[in-house]
Amino acid sequence: MSRLLFAASMLVAFMLSAEPLKLNTRARALSAVSGGKYEPLVRSVEWDPKKTAVIVCDMWDDHWCKGAAARVGEMVPRMDDVLRQMRARGVFVVHAPSTVTDFYKDTHQRKRAQTAPFVKPPVPLETKHERWGTCWLYPDPDREPANPIDDTDMGCDCKVKCKIEPPWKRQIAGLSIGPDDAITDNGQELWNLLAARGITQILFVGVHTNMCVLGRPFAIRQLAKLGLNVLLVRDLTDTMYNSQMRPFVSHYEGTDLVIQHIEKYWCPTITSADLVAKPAFRFKEDPRR
Ligand SMILES: [Zn+2]
Repeated sequence: MSRLLFAASMLVAFMLSAEPLKLNTRARALSAVSGGKYEPLVRSVEWDPKKTAVIVCDMWDDHWCKGAAARVGEMVPRMDDVLRQMRARGVFVVHAPSTVTDFYKDTHQRKRAQTAPFVKPPVPLETKHERWGTCWLYPDPDREPANPIDDTDMGCDCKVKCKIEPPWKRQIAGLSIGPDDAITDNGQELWNLLAARGITQILFVGVHTNMCVLGRPFAIRQLAKLGLNVLLVRDLTDTMYNSQMRPFVSHYEGTDLVIQHIEKYWCPTITSADLVAKPAFRFKEDPRR
């Protein structure tokens, strides 16, 4: 009898883990109806958790911009909720804290990435353009126009401007790292990990939309070029944008403009509401409701 109960409970556990992720994706497409303007295109999709990874981009323990660091801290509880629930559903979690993976050099999560067997990617990975300590994918003129915000001042939105001195040493401690997770900021290591697991679908969280979320070798430009099915979780990201710069909108509207740019030219987005059954995350200083 107890053996039968055990078998039944295993079956329930299996059925729960096999439940697909139900996602409401938003892209932007040119619409003939609206006179050739971009319009939101909303679609419901179901993803197999076993073919899905969450990538956590540059959620560092600190930032040269105090405002940016505070917003990262504010996102941590919700993001960790997402990581824990996705892990429980069988989604693979990859932590990508650029330039500080050495902090984790003795962990098996870091070694898992370093020892994953080499798999040749379908397109050559970007390896050049050193920037901020790793390779970089710059805007692709064949695919996208210029960024909709001016971030040439590096985007500190604080009243007293912060000095650009990178202080980050590790990923922020409030994000859990599970025993089956991996840690890498390297495009080839990431590809090896995904290929070994048959993963073709990516949920992308972290910062910042106008910089690392697009440009890093594990981030959206590279993932899209690899032919992966990518979704940016648009309420779990932020932008390096100074509202005193063009187009002179609030910090949060600046983020929305970059998200729209990504939805037009790179990949659709979702909110974390689809992942944790709570309302989408909002920064406390975002006045819009
Ligand atoms: Zn600042």
